[in-house]
Amino acid sequence: MTDAVVVGSGPNGLAAALTLARAGLRVEVFEAHERVGGGLRTEALLDSEVLHDICAAVHPMTPVSPFMRSLGLEAHGVALLHSPAAYGHPLQGGPAALAWRDLDATCAELGPDGRRWRRLMLPLMQRSADVVDLMLSTQRTPPNPTALALLATRLPAHALRAGGDLRAEAARALLTGVAAHGIGRLPSPASAAVALLLGHLARTTGWPVPRGGSGAVAAVMAQQIERLGGRIHTGVRVNSLNDLPTRRLTLLDVSPRELARIAPLPAGYLRALSRYRYGPGAAKADFLVEGAIPWTDPRLSHAATIHLGGTHGTAQELAHAETVTARGLSVRHPYIIVVDPAAADPARAVRGRRPVWAYAHVPHGDPRDPPPTIRAALEAHAPGFTDTVIAERGMSAAQLGAITRTTSAATSPPER
Ligand SMILES: Cc1cc2nc3c(=O)[nH]c(=O)nc-3n(C[C@H](O)[C@H](O)[C@H](O)COP(=O)(O)OP(=O)(O)OC[C@H]3O[C@@H](n4cnc5c(N)ncnc54)[C@H](O)[C@@H]3O)c2cc1C
Repeated sequence: MTDAVVVGSGPNGLAAALTLARAGLRVEVFEAHERVGGGLRTEALLDSEVLHDICAAVHPMTPVSPFMRSLGLEAHGVALLHSPAAYGHPLQGGPAALAWRDLDATCAELGPDGRRWRRLMLPLMQRSADVVDLMLSTQRTPPNPTALALLATRLPAHALRAGGDLRAEAARALLTGVAAHGIGRLPSPASAAVALLLGHLARTTGWPVPRGGSGAVAAVMAQQIERLGGRIHTGVRVNSLNDLPTRRLTLLDVSPRELARIAPLPAGYLRALSRYRYGPGAAKADFLVEGAIPWTDPRLSHAATIHLGGTHGTAQELAHAETVTARGLSVRHPYIIVVDPAAADPARAVRGRRPVWAYAHVPHGDPRDPPPTIRAALEAHAPGFTDTVIAERGMSAAQLGAITRTTSAATSPPER
């Protein structure tokens, strides 16, 4: 008999397995894919030498999460690399807004909003550890009063208005692009919390990419589990919990739908699971690109993460797109996150060919093929982008949702 079985080796499954293994339990992990990592996998999708992250690519929480810090990634050869700007936001008809790693540089480019940006972010940066602790806490311990006060005086304005009291479009869009990482109605208390958390981290521990891709992080977690005697079985899709070895504890890193499929549960609980409402989805495109992205504002090539949305990239357009998408409706210009990992890790570009990863927020289960929408949005701010694309792969939200059942999606050259 084993002590614990974990189904699913995404970052949460691996974290659970490692925590149990560290506590001295015998752990077995079962993963449907041939490789561990779930959303933390990195694979050569479109070129045998160029690596693409399957889901997670940028890791703002990795340097601050107590669990992720406990991995000692750097000591295991996984450097967290930074681009000079954490993220950028192109605006139609004007210079892009950039969140440089340096607060002064960011504020200097925001005009009169620079003062407001500093007032918003600097106190959070100075008490970053307490702010992160409060936001990641289980709320079972009394909150740190300073962190609580910092958030209490900032959250309401941003929960009511995208961009809070920032006035000019550049600053408002720069912050709203971060708020939209929350995937949901915008503005809202949740999106405001995301903006303040990820927004201030951009200038403290940053928004790093792991050298060589996120798969390196999953590999470290898997090695540590195995070093402690844990066993990881890949290529094993669990179809019934009854098929698993006898164990005292079962942890499932799976969706509610998958839970209903594999677990012998009482009828009432199954009914509750069938009523589970999934949030908006992600529709992703991977591009193999020749050379740099031809941004209209070339400073954007200093940022590994770029936010796009609307025709002009304004905060109002982003908020509209996110709110409509959260209601389950499609928008013509969704919010899109573009990641160019080679901006932080130049070795990701091989023979001048770089991986570019982008996903749009879309309604749950949306079946539409994302590359045309994403290419059009990129073309608006990087004319000629399509001509740099050597190959691409699209994963609709419906396909991404069923990723464990989808071993490969169609790979095709882009339409010219
Ligand atoms: C397009 C996209 C981009 C993203 N980018 C980022 C980013 O840049 N930064 C970031 O921090 N986060 C990002 N995320 C979010 C991140 O990927 C997820 O939060 C994370 O992967 C969730 O981890 P998880 O362990 O809960 O689940 P998953 O990573 O989904 O892992 C679940 C695992 O369980 C396995 N599984 C499921 N059912 C079974 C079964 N019956 N038997 C065996 N195995 C099973 C699956 O194969 C899978 O490997 C992104 C997500 C998407 C979709």
